[in-house]
Amino acid sequence: MNAHAIVIGAGLAGSSAAERLAARGWKIDLIERAHAPAQGASGNVAGVLRPLPSLDDNRLARLTRAGFEHACRHFAALTAAGQPLRWGQTGVLHLARDETHAATQQRVVEIRKAAADQLYFVDRQQARKLAAWPVASGGWWFPGGGWVDPGSLCRANLARYATAITTHYAAEVAQIDRPADLWRARNAAGDVIAAAPVLILANATTARHFAVTAHLPLRAARGQVSHLAAAAGSVPDVVVCRLGYVTPAIDGLRCAGATFSVDDGEAALRESDHAENLAKLDFILPGYGNGIQARDLAGRVGFRPLSPDRLPMIGAIGDAAAIDPDAPSQALAEMPRLPGLYLINGFGARGIVWSALAGELLACLVTAAPLPLPDDLVDAVDPGRFLLRGRSRRQRVDKVR
Ligand SMILES: Cc1cc2nc3c(=O)[nH]c(=O)nc-3n(C[C@H](O)[C@H](O)[C@H](O)COP(=O)(O)OP(=O)(O)OC[C@H]3O[C@@H](n4cnc5c(N)ncnc54)[C@H](O)[C@@H]3O)c2cc1C
Repeated sequence: MNAHAIVIGAGLAGSSAAERLAARGWKIDLIERAHAPAQGASGNVAGVLRPLPSLDDNRLARLTRAGFEHACRHFAALTAAGQPLRWGQTGVLHLARDETHAATQQRVVEIRKAAADQLYFVDRQQARKLAAWPVASGGWWFPGGGWVDPGSLCRANLARYATAITTHYAAEVAQIDRPADLWRARNAAGDVIAAAPVLILANATTARHFAVTAHLPLRAARGQVSHLAAAAGSVPDVVVCRLGYVTPAIDGLRCAGATFSVDDGEAALRESDHAENLAKLDFILPGYGNGIQARDLAGRVGFRPLSPDRLPMIGAIGDAAAIDPDAPSQALAEMPRLPGLYLINGFGARGIVWSALAGELLACLVTAAPLPLPDDLVDAVDPGRFLLRGRSRRQRVDKVR
C-alpha cells in the first residue's frame, strides 16, 4: 500500500497518530478546521498525567497504566529530540474522599503491589507534607505523575517529523468518500483537500457526522477549568486531586477543575462552573480559595469526546451497512470493515494519559505491525464493538463497568 494517510483533527488524537505514522516513513496530510493545532479539547493550559489503579485491575485500569507508562517514555523521547514539550513530573497526590475510600486506596496498593515508582499510600501527615497544606486525608502518591501542557504535546508531535506532515489549517472537512481506492476529504464546496488510501478520523465528536460513521456513539462532555493567579514558588508544587484537581503554578497561574456536563454545548465561561471549581478546590485544599470570587476568575471551556463505556475508540471502522441487524452477533475479528478508514477518538477525560499509546496502537493497526497491547485490550478499544449485536456486546460493556 502507498504509505500515505489523511488525518482529520490536530488535537492530541490526530497529532499522536500523525507522529507515529510519520516515524514509520508515512506521508501525512493533516487537516484541521482551526488556524493551528490544539484549539479544541486539547488546548487547556495543563492537565493531569497519572494512572488509575483499581481493586480488580479492570480494563480501564490496565489501559490507563499502559498509557501512563507509554506516555512517560514518549514525552522523554520528544524532550530528548529537542521538542519543547512542557510537562512537569512533580508527582500527583490523590487524596481519599473519606475513610472508606482511604481503606480502598490502601488495599489497592497492597493487592496490586504496584511498582514503587508508580504508587504509594501516604497517611494524612505525609500528605500534608507533600501538599504543603493542611489537607484532610491521606491518599495515593504517584511520584512519576505530573502535569502536561496538551497544546505543547500536539505541537511537539507535529514538529518531530515535520517534513513528513503537510498541514492544512483553517480547512474543515464536510464530506468523505472513496470513489476508487483513495479516500477523499472534501470541504463544503466539494473541493478535495486531500486524497490518500488511508483516512484517520481524529476530529472528536464530529467524526460521526459522515454517512459511514453515523453509527458511532460519540458524545461531548463540556468541561470548564478555572485559572487561579499563582506566585512563583507558591504551594502546592505537586498536583493534588480529590474529586477534582489543582496543578502547580505554571506561568503564573494554577488550573483548578474541572466541571463535567454531557451534551451541554455552552462555549462561554459560566460563573456557576467557576463556583463549582472553587468548591472542589476547598474540598482538596481547605481554605485555599478563601477570598477568591467566582465572578473574577478566568478559565477555559473544552468538549471531551466521550464513548458510552468510557474506553477510547482506536482502530478500523466497521462497515455498518454490510451488517445485517437481525443476524446473530459476529466476532469482532470477522466484522466487515471499511477499507482504509480508521478512528482514534473517545478519549474522554484521559486524552493526556492515553494519546501516545493510542497513536502507537493505531499506527501498528494501519501498518499490520505487532500490537503494543494484549488482545483483550485491543478488542476493548475497537470501534467495531458498538456494532456488535445483543449478548456479545452487552457482555463487553458490562465488563468495563
Ligand atoms: C476541562 C478538561 C480537562 C481535562 N483534563 C484532563 C486531564 O487532567 N488529564 C487527561 O488525561 N485528559 C484531560 N482532558 C481530556 C483531554 O484533553 C481530551 O481527551 C483530549 O484533548 C481529546 O483530544 P482529541 O484530539 O480527541 O480532541 P480535540 O482536541 O477536540 O481535537 C479534535 C480536533 O478536530 C478538529 N475538527 C473537528 N471537526 C473537524 C472537521 N470536520 N474538519 C477539520 N477539523 C476538524 C477540531 O478543530 C479539533 O482541533 C481534559 C479535557 C477537558 C475539556
